[in-house]
Amino acid sequence: MSVAYDIVIIGSGAGGGTMAHALSATGARILILERGDFVPREEENWSPDEVWRQLRYRTTDRWLDEQGREFAPYTHYCVGGNSKFWGSVLFRLRREDFHDLEHLDGVSPAWPIDYETLAPYYDRAERLYQVHGAVGDDPTEPPRGPYPHAPVPHSSEMSDIVEKLRRQGLHPSPLPLGLLSPGEPGGCILCSTCNSFPCKLHAKSDAEVCCVKEALRQPTVTLWTNARAERLVTDGTGRRVLGVDVERHGETLRVEAGLFVVSCGAVGSAALLLQSADGAHPNGLANSSGLVGRRYMAHQATMMEGFHPFRKNQTVFQNKTK
Ligand SMILES: Cc1cc2nc3c(=O)[nH]c(=O)nc-3n(C[C@H](O)[C@H](O)[C@H](O)COP(=O)(O)OP(=O)(O)OC[C@H]3O[C@@H](n4cnc5c(N)ncnc54)[C@H](O)[C@@H]3O)c2cc1C
Ligand code: SF4
Repeated sequence: MSVAYDIVIIGSGAGGGTMAHALSATGARILILERGDFVPREEENWSPDEVWRQLRYRTTDRWLDEQGREFAPYTHYCVGGNSKFWGSVLFRLRREDFHDLEHLDGVSPAWPIDYETLAPYYDRAERLYQVHGAVGDDPTEPPRGPYPHAPVPHSSEMSDIVEKLRRQGLHPSPLPLGLLSPGEPGGCILCSTCNSFPCKLHAKSDAEVCCVKEALRQPTVTLWTNARAERLVTDGTGRRVLGVDVERHGETLRVEAGLFVVSCGAVGSAALLLQSADGAHPNGLANSSGLVGRRYMAHQATMMEGFHPFRKNQTVFQNKTK
């Protein structure tokens, strides 16, 4: 069996969900394919035991490392993708990130576009994801206008620390946060279980809440959950994608379209391109470089923790200052 749409978007996370929202009003017939289901709204959303010990919302898939050893990936298959679990700290890349950038291990080559090309899209995305922040405190910040919403105020303990850091000549700044009406009636309650937890109130700016739900209001937009793209099918020349084979309800069916958006996450997208190898592309699609699926780098973080033996930090919402 095969069905046809104008556009098929594979994956409903930060990338695919945002794309679906951007295209939803064009009148094009759009199908969003999502291998997972909706995250249920339930008590367990905010249970550290369920989220961290029982891994209630994580995939049970096992991936293989470069030595062929199985490991449990830290990823979630659901409507909204990993944005359901993110800390909603929505930074822009820095201007320098787009140029040749020297690191300890070598040079990260320049992007084909610069920051200025992307800046208007960052503006749109920050409005869509309702980002709260302040301009001017962070010396690494690229040129930009004001945030759409004022920063989330510091707790009293944090204000104290921020002042002390400033007196030392440092530049602490509020994190840019995507939250819906923080501290206001019906909005985000600034609880202690945000980063890595799904929001029981749907007050976190994630791709389901800000994008997919909105996109689905259009009669031309359809979402299939529990629908996994297995491979992209190309024409005889191998240069045009004609369809995608989808596993859904135990069956495989082909969906055809004029345009396909592969937005399955960094690993999932690479896997799909590699799984789509055919006679014209024996190493997978878009892989003439041989680099698809290689040199993956998860984000790096340096953390410092300070403990005071006699003072308790009463701050509830922790996700605040850089
Ligand atoms: C705990 C946590 C905290 C984070 N905090 C932040 C933060 O504060 N700020 C920030 O910027 N980033 C943060 N991130 C990272 C951020 O969530 C990801 O960078 C972002 O979600 C990637 O978007 P994506 O669309 O590429 O992939 P995803 O959001 O992962 O979406 C991919 C979607 O594709 C689906 N999919 C995969 N394969 C297939 C297939 N074959 N067929 C159909 N569907 C498929 C998946 O189920 C998933 O829904 C965090 C991540 C985690 C896990
Ligand atoms: S209520 Fe606010 S702080 Fe708590 S999980 Fe939801 S968005 Fe995060």
